[in-house]
Amino acid sequence: MSDPLTYSYYGGSAHRWPAQPRLDGDRQCDVVVIGGGFTGLSAALACAERGFSVVLLEKEKIAFGASGRNGGQLIPGLRWTASELEKDFGPQRADALFDLCWRQNPVRARIEKHGINCDQKSGHLEAAWTPADFDATRREAEYLSARFNYRSDVVPKSDMGAHIDSGLYHGGIYDPQGGHFHPINYAIGLGKAALAAGVTIFEDCRAFGVEDGLQPVVSALGGDIRAKHVIMAADSWMSDIWTGNVGLRLGRYTVPIMNYNIATAPLPDADALLPSDAAVADSRFVLNYFRLSADKRLIFGGGERYSQTPPRDIAAFVRPFMAQVFPQIAEAKIDYGWGGAVAVTMNRLPHIGRRGNVFFAHGFSGHGALVTTLAGELIAEAMAGTAERFDVLAGLPSRPFPGGKWLRRPLATLGLLWYALRDRLG
Ligand SMILES: Cc1cc2nc3c(=O)[nH]c(=O)nc-3n(C[C@H](O)[C@H](O)[C@H](O)COP(=O)(O)OP(=O)(O)OC[C@H]3O[C@@H](n4cnc5c(N)ncnc54)[C@H](O)[C@@H]3O)c2cc1C
Repeated sequence: MSDPLTYSYYGGSAHRWPAQPRLDGDRQCDVVVIGGGFTGLSAALACAERGFSVVLLEKEKIAFGASGRNGGQLIPGLRWTASELEKDFGPQRADALFDLCWRQNPVRARIEKHGINCDQKSGHLEAAWTPADFDATRREAEYLSARFNYRSDVVPKSDMGAHIDSGLYHGGIYDPQGGHFHPINYAIGLGKAALAAGVTIFEDCRAFGVEDGLQPVVSALGGDIRAKHVIMAADSWMSDIWTGNVGLRLGRYTVPIMNYNIATAPLPDADALLPSDAAVADSRFVLNYFRLSADKRLIFGGGERYSQTPPRDIAAFVRPFMAQVFPQIAEAKIDYGWGGAVAVTMNRLPHIGRRGNVFFAHGFSGHGALVTTLAGELIAEAMAGTAERFDVLAGLPSRPFPGGKWLRRPLATLGLLWYALRDRLG
């Protein structure tokens, strides 16, 4: 692989995916989907299941983007806590958001329906970096239980050994509804289900622009596609797609933050590190997140870089974060190091909506493994005429980053550096 960011454990253990053809000539269909990550694949599959004829365009291979590079952590909810949502949006909208984003598990439903083999495991632990973080998460768990009857376990520091062999954390919250999975194999499973449902997938097929006249038209490498609806699911690359008279300019709503992962060689004592086999994310702003793979590697994500240039040695960049959490494996052999862009919005809530016949969903802000599948399904539901559930997510507020084309990224970076500094001070 030519791109150093793509040397991943996931790529090395991916199931066979049949290469899809390039687009060769103009086409007509009901729905064109731009982007073959979780959002686009889920939307394409759900649209096909509803009887639409669907063409999906992917500029590389499916799961080339964040969907093939993430930590594989399935974390119920959104980047905001449920109590924050209720405080800002009121009880009715909080109820609707909770029903969608916490109670549904669309990924599990897809895995079961299509028999997707992607090493799915249950259990997610949020580990508190400071005593104050533990107090805050404990209060949130109590609120979830009292307000929504949602079960999660408060784990005091003295009991953390049941989940993690690290003395670093001040307690945590264990959520049995969360979990982890092999993201590329999930995406491949979705892709195969989409093909079986009749979706036509073109790979190595970049979409250049979208126009919405009498009928929307997507211009792409190899031809133009006329459709009744377009779904834009290109996440970090939205700004590359010209939206002509649709005027969406979606690139203004996110900035890409680079994030890196490593996978150790299989570890003889892996189960001792994470005895409950939960995925773990800690409460730092620039968080550490980690879990075991099916073949007992530690997959560890840590450290953000606000520059788009990857570190020369990704393993060397992430290793100190891993060694801080697990000093006992500080010198472990690292087989893979890779990275990807997390598309982050101003308020860290996803930006989902439609303008006319063009739907879009992006900016999941590092919390997309579950919600992307949901977003794709809700877009299909809205397209078929039932928009209530789609409107719940589309109603989330969003604002473009200030600073215009040239200052947007530097200004956002300054803000993020401030929070990262607070991590270090706290
Ligand atoms: C390193 C990393 C770790 C993460 N860890 C977690 C985690 O543990 N848990 C979690 O919940 N979330 C995590 N996330 C976030 C999560 O992976 C994303 O929110 C999610 O995968 C976004 O899916 P998507 O389909 O919207 O976008 P992507 O997966 O980025 O898909 C977009 C696709 O569009 C294609 N594309 C772009 N432009 C065009 C074009 N012009 N024409 C055609 N195709 C185009 C791209 O090639 C890409 O395949 C992480 C992200 C990263 C980068």
